[in-house]
Amino acid sequence: MDIAENLSQIQERIKQACARSGRSPRDVTLVGVAKNQPPEKIRAAADLGVRHFGENRVQEAKIKSQECPAGLDWHMIGHLQSNKCRDAVHLFEMIESIDSRHLAENVNRAAEREGKTMPILLQVNVAGEASKFGYTPEQIREDLLIINQLPAIEIHGLMTIAPYTTTPERVRPCFKRLRELKTDLEQQLGAPLPHLSMGMSGDFETAIEEGATLVRIGTLLFGSRSG
Ligand SMILES: *Cc1c(COP(=O)(O)O)cnc(C)c1O
Repeated sequence: MDIAENLSQIQERIKQACARSGRSPRDVTLVGVAKNQPPEKIRAAADLGVRHFGENRVQEAKIKSQECPAGLDWHMIGHLQSNKCRDAVHLFEMIESIDSRHLAENVNRAAEREGKTMPILLQVNVAGEASKFGYTPEQIREDLLIINQLPAIEIHGLMTIAPYTTTPERVRPCFKRLRELKTDLEQQLGAPLPHLSMGMSGDFETAIEEGATLVRIGTLLFGSRSG
């Protein structure tokens, strides 16, 4: 397990996917997915310059962030329960998994109390999988303007988890649909949405070709998860 070697391979593959699609690697940010990985590995990646880390549980992030250097950007990428909003707002620089108006309102309230403006992404279940959280594209159109008016929240874009596949080409339509939805919503808002968080270890190059600005990579960077 050599995180330096893994990281340099990932960075090279990001560069090549950008080259294929006429994009700049500067417009793609690697989020190292830290869930079920020990803090030593996170510290090793941070020493190599990785600044953004994803967690899917508030409690795990709370413990782990204390054992990691200060100044890292933690992203909440898992389903958030309303009773964890206060901790989440305190711990995370971005909440990528807002999947209902109710949750957005709770995050807004927690952010107001914390005196913070919280960057969020709206999670979309593009493929309509029953096992996954996330908005349908229709529901997002209904809630967008209401969420956009919450004073302590800033909508920065969209996030999706594509269906698991060993053939990334199969999920290209999901990524494309998320990009098109972002364009639609930008029109509805009359303002740009900077981020598309899509692509994981098995499909990040396809996601980049379709416009990903945040790629969430766990196993390819840190090895298989322990828990
Ligand atoms: C676990 C997880 C990832 C990372 O998955 P890998 O296949 O290990 O890269 C990315 N996004 C979310 C939301 C996850 O839960």
